[in-house]
Amino acid sequence: MWLGAHLSISAGLPEAAETAASLGANTFAYFTRNPRGGSARQIPAEEVAAWQTARQTYAIGPTVGHMPYTVNLAGNKTSVQGFARMVVAEDFRRVESFAGEYMCLHPGSHLGDGAAAGIERVVAVLKDSLPHASSTTMLLLETMAGSGSEIGASFAELAQILDGAGAPPTLGVCLDSCHLFSQGYDFTTAHGIDQLLFDIDQTVGRDRVRAMHLNDSKFPLGSHKDRHQNLGQGSLGKQGILNILRHPWLSTLPLVMETPVEDIKEYEAEIALAKSWLSGD
Ligand SMILES: [Zn+2]
Repeated sequence: MWLGAHLSISAGLPEAAETAASLGANTFAYFTRNPRGGSARQIPAEEVAAWQTARQTYAIGPTVGHMPYTVNLAGNKTSVQGFARMVVAEDFRRVESFAGEYMCLHPGSHLGDGAAAGIERVVAVLKDSLPHASSTTMLLLETMAGSGSEIGASFAELAQILDGAGAPPTLGVCLDSCHLFSQGYDFTTAHGIDQLLFDIDQTVGRDRVRAMHLNDSKFPLGSHKDRHQNLGQGSLGKQGILNILRHPWLSTLPLVMETPVEDIKEYEAEIALAKSWLSGD
């Protein structure tokens, strides 16, 4: 099982691998660039080489980058669209340069213009800026909670984006257990998870789904609110999280926590907790 948390690569990729291992993780998430601003750290060749060694040493599985929140592919201003094109293209190349497997993206907000118009704009950016040839790297569209004018709050919308962009091998989907619970998928019941799998199979298909953000939710089922909670302390609770960890297919995905912590060292206890649930403690 690939289990980890959102860390940082600002001190270097080999350091992130070492930190992950020290927390009991064998995968991790990271921001592909400053999440609020726009600047990106260049990753020198020596660091890439050291990273390749470190990930062998610490047996790090597929990693899951996250693009900044300031990018809005569905934005209706030319400058916003231009920034999104630049960031998608640059970050994809940078993640690819160190053979990072996945990078997640919030599809965007249509800002009141309606989902259809927003999806059209997301598709246009992806068509222009995402490599279509197969690659070591995939951009993953994240399943969103559906607050405000967020696009991606249903698998049907993600399928429209995938199809519109021509379904390149470089484009996939990242699940988020908090956001999906907010959409109405009840992870605490077998029926809820069956419904999730059914909907995935009817739309984007399981092959496109490559990673999952493992978060509990502060808000109840179907709230359409995006507020992460620590594992077991929210509405999914121990049962909901355990249903994911024990699921024959969901548990094969890299599972990365983005739960609220003051310090990433706190993830050590949270990862240990998830493992103890899994072993039946
Ligand atoms: Zn996200």
